[in-house]
Amino acid sequence: MGKTKSNLRGFIKIKIKLFSSLLIFLLLILNACIIFLLLNLNYLKAYEIAIHEQLLSNIEDTHGKKLQELSTLEVKIEDLKGLDQKILTIKQQFFDNALAYETLVLQGKGTKKIAYLTIDDGPYSQYTPSFLDILDNYDILATFFLIGKPNPILEPIYKRIADSGHTIGNHTYSHAIKRGLYNSVDSFINDVIKQEKFLQTKTGVTTNIVRFPGGSMTAKSGYRTEILKRLRTLNYGYIDWNVSTGDSGGYPTPTSVLNNVLNGINDKKIAVILMHDFSYSTLLALPTMIEELKRRDYIFLPLFYESAKIIK
Ligand SMILES: [Zn+2]
Repeated sequence: MGKTKSNLRGFIKIKIKLFSSLLIFLLLILNACIIFLLLNLNYLKAYEIAIHEQLLSNIEDTHGKKLQELSTLEVKIEDLKGLDQKILTIKQQFFDNALAYETLVLQGKGTKKIAYLTIDDGPYSQYTPSFLDILDNYDILATFFLIGKPNPILEPIYKRIADSGHTIGNHTYSHAIKRGLYNSVDSFINDVIKQEKFLQTKTGVTTNIVRFPGGSMTAKSGYRTEILKRLRTLNYGYIDWNVSTGDSGGYPTPTSVLNNVLNGINDKKIAVILMHDFSYSTLLALPTMIEELKRRDYIFLPLFYESAKIIK
């Protein structure tokens, strides 16, 4: 009996030893697993960090490039800010040369003569763009005496006239010859000022050349002197014409328009030619008129305040 008991105890002891060894072994494996897992987690973390670093550096690169682009754009914007001034300088140089040239022509020097094409009463959506196309084709700058037409359809035409470099003149806002424009000095002057502001909004141009609707003689003698005085104080000069297409009344045809100009010009050193961009006959006659005047040694200029033809 005693032996069996001690055998059993020995057996249990061995079992416990085996069990504890197994437990230790399992614990060791578990430990190894945990260490492996931890190492792996660490590796994953490091990998993740590397990816983020890569992303960050990509973002930094893009950011740097964008900043570079931005500073290039800033330089361009600075250039654009100076553009208006550059255009003004070029225009001023052009008109300085035009004035010098006009003076020589008036002194009878050289063989060339000057034609100022003046186009009144516009803009019109129907024909003004075609007038502008013809002038573009011949590379000619003209003068548009514009009135006030607050029609959105006409806005791009006002803008195109200005952007093409043509001279913009003030032809009063209302052009209401028979509806009060010439009733008093104030009614005329206020209409001119109204148009000055209107043209500034539509074209960005401040003009100081005016043409009286119907011509300066339309202003009654009693008011005329006072109107001219007021225009001078507002720094305006005015101009009529010495050649007319005759396109504003009667039944003008392309032939009559052309003949009126060619007969009227009569070798004048400086021709100020009146036409209207509501006239289809003038539109049709314009290319031949330009070619014929060129053949007769005329060069085409846009009007400018300093011109001898502008009465101040
Ligand atoms: Zn007119």
